Amino acid sequence: MHKAKFCIITCMDFRFQDKIQKYIKNQGWLGSCDEIIIAGASRDLVKPLEPFHKESIIRQINLSVKLHDPDEIIIIDHQDCGGYAQDQTILSGLETAKDQTEHKIYAKQAYEILKKDYPDKIVSIYYIAFSGEVTKLI
Ligand SMILES: [Zn+2]
Repeated sequence: MHKAKFCIITCMDFRFQDKIQKYIKNQGWLGSCDEIIIAGASRDLVKPLEPFHKESIIRQINLSVKLHDPDEIIIIDHQDCGGYAQDQTILSGLETAKDQTEHKIYAKQAYEILKKDYPDKIVSIYYIAFSGEVTKLI
């Protein structure tokens, strides 16, 4: 088996690609992580619009675990995420602190779901703002 240290789930939003990849590189995670890029990052785990949305992201994580046995599953959610704004779960255009507070609610849910499915994995949830500042929510 080819072992990865991390399975990292991020949003597809082009506005954050540079910032997220820079963060992953600076953390030393690049080259030792599976990357799952999906609209909304944690969104489909915690509040899927359709059941198959959750099944789809779980399937991707399962494959990472099965193929590469990562020690840690990391979600990086971001400010002004359209995945959360599509049905006003979190409103678009909130200022950073308010947006981050809203994301923390769903981060806790995502953490619980992942720890239940993968009790032997470390689970961490991060939040990245437009400024590039990254905060560990869990
Ligand atoms: Zn997003």
